[in-house]
Amino acid sequence: MKVLVINCGSSSLKYQVLDMTNEELLCKGLVERIGLDGSIITHEKAGAAEKFKLETPMGNHKDAIGHVINAMLDKDHGVLTSMDELGAVGHRVVHAGEKFASSILITDEVKAALTECIELAPLHNPPNILGIEACQQLMPNTKMVGVFDTAFHQTMPAESYIYALPYEYYEKYGIRRYGFHGTSHKYVSERAASILGKKYEDLKIITCHLGNGASITAIKNGKSFDTSMGFTPLEGLVMGTRSGDLDPAIVTFIEEKEGLPQGGANNVLNKKSGVLGISGVSSDFRDLGDAADNGNERAKLALDVYVHRVKHYIGAYIAQLNGVDALVFTAGLGENSSDMRERICSDLDYLGIKIDPAKNDLRGKEAIISPDDAPVRVILIPTNEELTIARDTFEIVSAI
Ligand code: ADP
Repeated sequence: MKVLVINCGSSSLKYQVLDMTNEELLCKGLVERIGLDGSIITHEKAGAAEKFKLETPMGNHKDAIGHVINAMLDKDHGVLTSMDELGAVGHRVVHAGEKFASSILITDEVKAALTECIELAPLHNPPNILGIEACQQLMPNTKMVGVFDTAFHQTMPAESYIYALPYEYYEKYGIRRYGFHGTSHKYVSERAASILGKKYEDLKIITCHLGNGASITAIKNGKSFDTSMGFTPLEGLVMGTRSGDLDPAIVTFIEEKEGLPQGGANNVLNKKSGVLGISGVSSDFRDLGDAADNGNERAKLALDVYVHRVKHYIGAYIAQLNGVDALVFTAGLGENSSDMRERICSDLDYLGIKIDPAKNDLRGKEAIISPDDAPVRVILIPTNEELTIARDTFEIVSAI
């Protein structure tokens, strides 16, 4: 069965087609500037020498999906001879609230439940739902599956997800920790068990998803036990432009001092903070590394704060899990920066965490990077959220 994986943002859409008989990637692509001037699709057939690019007006997500279908069927760079070859579409959906603890076939009831979650993820769920509806209109006979960022974390116990607020806010408004990046944390933690040749259910694993957005998860016996992102993806680690944890009193304080309009602090904390806010240089760790190497003190400080907070969570989660078997690094920074992995793991030998600099000298490949005699296995695992979405989709549709 061939499966199309769709990840819809407000003005962009990423897609992949995989052949699930052997999990082979057939093509992938990106549509950018949906609903804006200069809409463009970039499509890449696996093994092709060149990418196909087409700049053409795309007023909405339905137009964009129409061009994805054209690209998939194209006689030169396509991967399908007819849409009948496509067995299902897997959609990434950010927020499923407490409604779904695993991926699910999309029905009208499921769509209604996801629509109810819009107030929990006002930026993410609307484009995700638009993508589902566009696909349903253009592929009315194809089964659709929803795969949710929050689902993996639904196993957290109440002591991990309840905030110390009046309890009725949880009951009335659903204010609790949900956690995000679940598809990635699940994929890399399962891979870690497989790399170690151990049963997933027998392990204590801490997974560090360090990309533009960053989160860290404690996984106990194959279940998410705690995670650093919370009610929204703003909580937890320092990120590219997001503050992560801070004293909540700062919110009203800066609103008052800076004369910000209602919601203004939210904008500052999401878009102007994190390593960008501290450094004033960039949200990209490559730029920060270069600036720090050239003596920029605030870029150096931003990296120091970042490392400090990741260590903080590693320590906290080791305490919560009462030990750890494997520490996993993934996503843009986690996969590519040997320097930051080394800094995060430095001076953690008391907790059994060490890095072998020679083994750590690599990027984007699965590898155990701790010394053979270290108590904790530190593992680099490139994430593959699309493969997880395709697997869940294939499994659910095959069982119908
Ligand atoms: P997203 O959260 O947008 O999916 P990614 O997982 O792709 O993000 O991570 C993007 C981030 O990874 C970039 O902002 C950059 O800071 C970081 N990154 C990517 N490559 C490197 C590298 N070679 N060295 C350091 N950081 C890197």
